[in-house]
Amino acid sequence: MSERHPDGFLKHKRQPIGNRPVIERSTDYREIYLPKWDQTHLQAQGERCMDCGVPTCMGGCPIGNSIPDWNDLIYRGDWRAALEQLHATNNFPEFTGYTCPAPCEPACVLACNDEPVTIKSIERAIVDRGWQEGWIRPQPPEKRSGFQVAIVGSGPAGLAAAQQLNRAGHRVTVYERENRAGGLMTYGIPDFKIAKHQVERRIEQLSAEGIVFETGVEIGKGRTLADLRFQYDAVCLAIGAQKPRNVRVMGRDLAGVHFAMDYLVQENCRQHGEVVTCPISAKGKRVVVLGGGDTGADCVATAHRQGARYVLQININPQLPDERTPANPWPEYSQTYVASYAIEEGGEEVYSMDIIAFEDNKGNGHVDSIVAERVAWRYDEEGKRVGRHVLETKRAIAADLVLVAIGFQGPRSETLKADGLELTARGTITTNANMMTVLPGVFAAGDAQMGPSIVVWAIGEGRDVARQIDIFLSGGSRLPASLRTSNPYISRAKRPYRKQV
Ligand SMILES: Cc1cc2nc3c(=O)[nH]c(=O)nc-3n(C[C@H](O)[C@H](O)[C@H](O)COP(=O)(O)OP(=O)(O)OC[C@H]3O[C@@H](n4cnc5c(N)ncnc54)[C@H](O)[C@@H]3O)c2cc1C
Ligand code: SF4
Repeated sequence: MSERHPDGFLKHKRQPIGNRPVIERSTDYREIYLPKWDQTHLQAQGERCMDCGVPTCMGGCPIGNSIPDWNDLIYRGDWRAALEQLHATNNFPEFTGYTCPAPCEPACVLACNDEPVTIKSIERAIVDRGWQEGWIRPQPPEKRSGFQVAIVGSGPAGLAAAQQLNRAGHRVTVYERENRAGGLMTYGIPDFKIAKHQVERRIEQLSAEGIVFETGVEIGKGRTLADLRFQYDAVCLAIGAQKPRNVRVMGRDLAGVHFAMDYLVQENCRQHGEVVTCPISAKGKRVVVLGGGDTGADCVATAHRQGARYVLQININPQLPDERTPANPWPEYSQTYVASYAIEEGGEEVYSMDIIAFEDNKGNGHVDSIVAERVAWRYDEEGKRVGRHVLETKRAIAADLVLVAIGFQGPRSETLKADGLELTARGTITTNANMMTVLPGVFAAGDAQMGPSIVVWAIGEGRDVARQIDIFLSGGSRLPASLRTSNPYISRAKRPYRKQV
């Protein structure tokens, strides 16, 4: 490759594509990001990359994207080659270019004492241009292997696994219990974070490549895992980890207290034009969101768009510091406070609050307040909460609608144990080093086996499981091995994300 650009960061300041103004975006369901970007601007941002000897950004990216290579290609104006480079490690760069929390950026060498390269914006721009130019087309395999694989679940893990296996020549059928494919990309993450046409056009691409989608089919009801094992040469369970964690305090059964996902799925369906029975609405209400992760933020933003009177987001943990602490050095994923896009739009956050009851002071069976305590936590060496000291007792917080977004436990399925699968203490599916479950020929990937995480991890899991299935069927594989399994830094970076969603 010709000479690089070691001083680009001295010439240009970091400038991501950015979001639409709050006043405009918080009243509609269109994507929060600016829809247009300028090619010359992005090229200058690519020039900020120094092509460091050790590209720590790649270690920060859970799938080890070749970030310096596409930064350089963009700087040189070779967008098509950049797209190919991007697709070499990531099947769906727009899923990440729009929704990824970008753990690569705090790991960029520039982030040591300057602002990192705007990697996520460059990724988005490359794939946006790929779609605009018509460069992203179906790539059916040249020949078929004769093997057939069933994938259960069509979230990012299932879709990535399906595309990789199909490109290796196997016949792939994806089973999905919902009416539309896409998993949490379709039903969980709101339209204003990723517009659903972005998921739909990928499903169209996969279908044109020869993958069969059977939607509205829940494996375990009617059709069983045993049926799939009989019919297919291998099965992959990419069924997510959508079983919500509950808050077990007095008054939990009152009307007006809902799981976040019940609320978010409804709004996604409504935006798709579906009629929702028993709608949960925030209009005119005092809304309290329990949980400080992505799901909680999406509830805050949705409540604002529905016209909530006010929104309060309660976090059980203390607020993160503004700067890295010595215990969290670069290039680890930075554990610092950054206001979420949702809080930028409005609402209030409180920290270190533990809920002790939901109350119905009017006696009509509906929640009207929450009782909480402000606490200081004691943690063990692994960061688990092991004790608490009460700083303020019985603070009453008015609430007409409470949304519980305190995490997920494992797959939402009652039949896993009866099917003969083994589960971990966290409720996820146990697999061996080759991602195979205790049932021969049955593999698991994505949130279902690693616990709730983020889209980029799910894509990486899908790619890895495809390679393992290919080896199982064919005795070897030409599918790429991901960097995730061999890179110890990537494994370390995994942990913070488990806590966040
Ligand atoms: C509200 C919310 C917001 C989020 N925001 C972000 C974000 O901004 N950025 C980010 O990176 N990550 C985000 N995440 C996390 C991300 O969506 C997940 O980590 C990712 O979707 C996991 O992918 P998956 O394929 O493993 O599972 P899922 O996306 O959960 O897909 C699993 C699929 O399996 C199907 N299924 C389950 N059981 C069966 C069965 N028995 N038969 C047939 N089908 C079945 C389900 O219907 C589902 O479609 C968010 C999560 C939530 C809940
Ligand atoms: S997928 Fe996420 S972590 Fe990886 S390069 Fe893109 S924005 Fe960064």
